[in-house]
Amino acid sequence: METAQDLKMNVYKFGNKTADGNSKLRNLLGGKGANLAEMSWLGIPVPAGFTITTEVCTKYNEYGEEETIAMIKPEVEEAIKNIEEIMGSTFGDKENPLLISVRSGARVSMPGMMDTVLNLGLNDEVVLGLAAKTNNERFAWDSYRRFIQMYGGVVLGMKPESKDDIDPFEEIMEHLKEKRHIELDTEFTVQDLQDLVYDFKDAVKKRTGHDFPTDPWDQLWGAVIAVFNSWNGDRAVYYRKMHNYPADWGTAVNVQAMVYGNMGENSGTGVCFTRDAGTGENVFNGEYLIDAQGEDVVAGVRTPLQITKLGSERWAELAKVDEEERIASYPSLEEKMPEIFKELDAYQDKLEKHYRDMQDMEFTIQEGKLWILQTRNGKRTGAAMVKIAIDLLKSKMIDEKEALLLLEPNKLDELLHPVFDPKALKRAHVIAQGLPASPGAATGQLVFFADEAGKYKNSILCRIETSPEDLEGMNIAKGILTARGGMTSHAAVVARGMGKCCVSGAGALKINYKGRSLRVGDKVYHEGDWISLNGSTGNIIEGKVATVEPELSGEFAEIMDLTNKYSKLKVRTNADTPKDAIVAKNFGAQGIGLTRTEHMFFEVDRIRAMREMILAETVKGRKHALEELLPMQRKDFEGIFEAMEGLPVTIRLLDPPLHEFVPHQLATQKELAEDMHISLQAVKNKVADLSEFNPMLGHRGCRLGNTYPEITEMQTRAIIEAALNLKEKGIEAKPEIMIPLVGTYAEFLEQERIIRGTAQQVFDERNDSIEFMVGTMMEIPRATLIADKIAERADFFSFGTNDLTQMTYGYSRDDAGKFLPIYLDKGILTSDPFEILDQEGVGQLVEIGTERGRKTKPNLKVGICGEHGGEPNSVEFCYNTDLDYVSCSPFRVPIARLSAAQAQIKAS
Ligand code: PEP
Ligand code: MG
Repeated sequence: METAQDLKMNVYKFGNKTADGNSKLRNLLGGKGANLAEMSWLGIPVPAGFTITTEVCTKYNEYGEEETIAMIKPEVEEAIKNIEEIMGSTFGDKENPLLISVRSGARVSMPGMMDTVLNLGLNDEVVLGLAAKTNNERFAWDSYRRFIQMYGGVVLGMKPESKDDIDPFEEIMEHLKEKRHIELDTEFTVQDLQDLVYDFKDAVKKRTGHDFPTDPWDQLWGAVIAVFNSWNGDRAVYYRKMHNYPADWGTAVNVQAMVYGNMGENSGTGVCFTRDAGTGENVFNGEYLIDAQGEDVVAGVRTPLQITKLGSERWAELAKVDEEERIASYPSLEEKMPEIFKELDAYQDKLEKHYRDMQDMEFTIQEGKLWILQTRNGKRTGAAMVKIAIDLLKSKMIDEKEALLLLEPNKLDELLHPVFDPKALKRAHVIAQGLPASPGAATGQLVFFADEAGKYKNSILCRIETSPEDLEGMNIAKGILTARGGMTSHAAVVARGMGKCCVSGAGALKINYKGRSLRVGDKVYHEGDWISLNGSTGNIIEGKVATVEPELSGEFAEIMDLTNKYSKLKVRTNADTPKDAIVAKNFGAQGIGLTRTEHMFFEVDRIRAMREMILAETVKGRKHALEELLPMQRKDFEGIFEAMEGLPVTIRLLDPPLHEFVPHQLATQKELAEDMHISLQAVKNKVADLSEFNPMLGHRGCRLGNTYPEITEMQTRAIIEAALNLKEKGIEAKPEIMIPLVGTYAEFLEQERIIRGTAQQVFDERNDSIEFMVGTMMEIPRATLIADKIAERADFFSFGTNDLTQMTYGYSRDDAGKFLPIYLDKGILTSDPFEILDQEGVGQLVEIGTERGRKTKPNLKVGICGEHGGEPNSVEFCYNTDLDYVSCSPFRVPIARLSAAQAQIKAS
């Protein structure tokens, strides 16, 4: 029998315990569609529906609307018929109408990224049928006005044009409320709702020049095309870029029978998680509302109630609500609808076991019947991610490899960053309390508009509630604060996904957008005022609060131990000071892959000697200044060797152009002239002399050591003497001396001769010796091509992919910022090559260099020390290219370790 895939179907049906697709077809059906199909197979009650594939979206982008609709029309018509049969109602029927929802669903979940239309299929006649069928006029007209509102916004483009505009439909509603002297939507009468429908349609006609579509089929096609278009909307494009998702993935469209949570007291809707998304604690939790539609929970207009009794009790404690009041006014679903709760609890358990991961589910109760609308692997904080992986491992639901693959390397970052200093917190003045929506600590200056989040270096974005338009600003801000919305509000979900501190639903805040201010009681805070958020307690604190380094959990250590078990690729660190080296070592760094010695010369006590060396007119003068630098440099190396306790330490000889060390301001030039007893003009002349048109391609790297060999001699002496001094103290040191910016074999040979000669001289003087290596950076394309020759003498290679990227693309590292954003915007580049290694081009040079080097010397040690060494995709590439190690900044060591283990597990 031919399967759905063989037939190349465009539309996949689901419902009634069967489906055309399943969860394996995620790329084709999107995450939501694949999971709806899978849930159908599992016997979970999902409203019947169908999914139009992501391939159709791609075809739409190529061929346009007409051809796409013609191609899928027969399949869509058949699929609608299927829903009609299962649900026992008919699309567009005036007596027994079927209403549907249209939603997007890409292969990865993109919260709030794509648009949704609910209640589709209503018109002036169908609404009457719906009212009669449900015997609920109010519900029917409310559904109709919601439909026009959503359809108008999403499909007909009637969203507010600027941040000062209000939504045209909201404006009409506000107007009516004023006229009627009411405050809440629920106070509208049937007549009010009918008036709203009329006014909404009028607004549509005025704004678009067309009547609101009355034919349900026209409505459906309009919505499908709008979902496809939203794939290329600004928000979706921004999110894709942020996560590096390619544009050609496309989105699927999910069309599903509507079920209603707003049909009275025995209806409701909610969102739930199989474990705590903030802490990882293994407790079923979530929020619900009686007599409400799904959007009411997420939009945060009404504050939702807890699903479990335990959750409700914990909430009451935080909210200072006593037990009597809790039971009367804020009961949990477990208490309010025990049977429904039991069923839901069974499904959450079944789904977590089935997907072997924490699930985030949406559900609706329609007149006492439970429907599951969606399940997906839940977004979580870094801390929850680690705890859940270890807990699932311990419960034997998953094995060690699966536990490692459950983790998102970049998210570990959240665990390594500061929290509030408990001492400072004691003095803190808490001005209000919100919900602890996403843990962490944030301190910054208030801004009230997402597009102004970049106004201050550290900003706190404060909104009544957030919407997907605010995404970019949320990403820039250090923390997010909202006056409305529960733990599953947009702000909370997005912030957790970003690992960003968020306090939501702080009802005491009175936000005034026009006045750019925030009032709590009688105190007013203005834009630019400092405020601090504790995302773990929900506290909102006045002013700046000091932060401290976090303590790492036992689970974190367990994960890190596991990475060692599954990774042969070593992780080193780039560290220039003993302090950095110790931080990295505590994170599990297995050596230093790059010490940039130039940074040591910038310290106050050294820069003078360094400048003296540079200004010296003779070799003798230069040597004199270098003698001053020698003891300082030796001490630096002793500190680093000592910190690394016998692990290998790669030290790179001086690299940057000398003009970086000389003073460029008149005042400092004068100071230097006086200090050195030379004329100001002499200083000025030297500075002018050192200036270059293209310093990054100029007198730098081994070109310095080859023109001023005494610098190489001094640095080598400092390294070898430091190692010998430690040896005397019984501490092992393993120096690997690295020559920068080698492009020719002779350049390497000349430097190597000086290094080995100097080392021998020191050994003779001290009558002692140590083992050391001499290797080179691989950062000039030419070096990678003659790697076989260089490997005749070099003991190791380290790919400097910062310079290698610069020179392979011909993009200046310092100037690319001018055009890279435009290139990324236009899609000329899909990612910044200085951030994510360009495997296609630069990667080839890494492969060639490694292969040719190892042809000469099969055991040649090869690593990478450019910024890419801590970026997960690039680490995977390094593993696949058979490098021995990656080296990255200390805080990225855990990320690189996890990435390395994941790469190996995936490859096996
Ligand atoms: C490199 O070029 O990749 C490198 C590590 O050296 P630097 O960034 O110091 O030029
Ligand atoms: Mg470099």
